Amino acid sequence: MKRIYIASNLMDAQVVIDTLATCGIKAHIFNANAVGAVGELAAMQMWPEVWVESDADMETALELLRQMHSVQSNGTKTCPQCGEENPENFLSCWNCNQALN
Ligand SMILES: [Zn+2]
Repeated sequence: MKRIYIASNLMDAQVVIDTLATCGIKAHIFNANAVGAVGELAAMQMWPEVWVESDADMETALELLRQMHSVQSNGTKTCPQCGEENPENFLSCWNCNQALN
């Protein structure tokens, strides 16, 4: 087994698992139940991890991840101040007016 991804939340991890599954790659989430069960600092070290079952699937899985994340980051940018998503062509955040670059 190889760890290919550390998710920021369980939903994120689940999306990765589902995407891998559609390509026939078996993967597992670890730390799925740890988030929120401990203090905030510890929780940061317990983000859900995605592990692929077969080392042979590693490269395909990483390629899929790259594709997923380039799709996700296309068209939106995240406000550094409040964390809200903004369309890529916005010059300032719709929520808090922070300048975006
Ligand atoms: Zn903002």
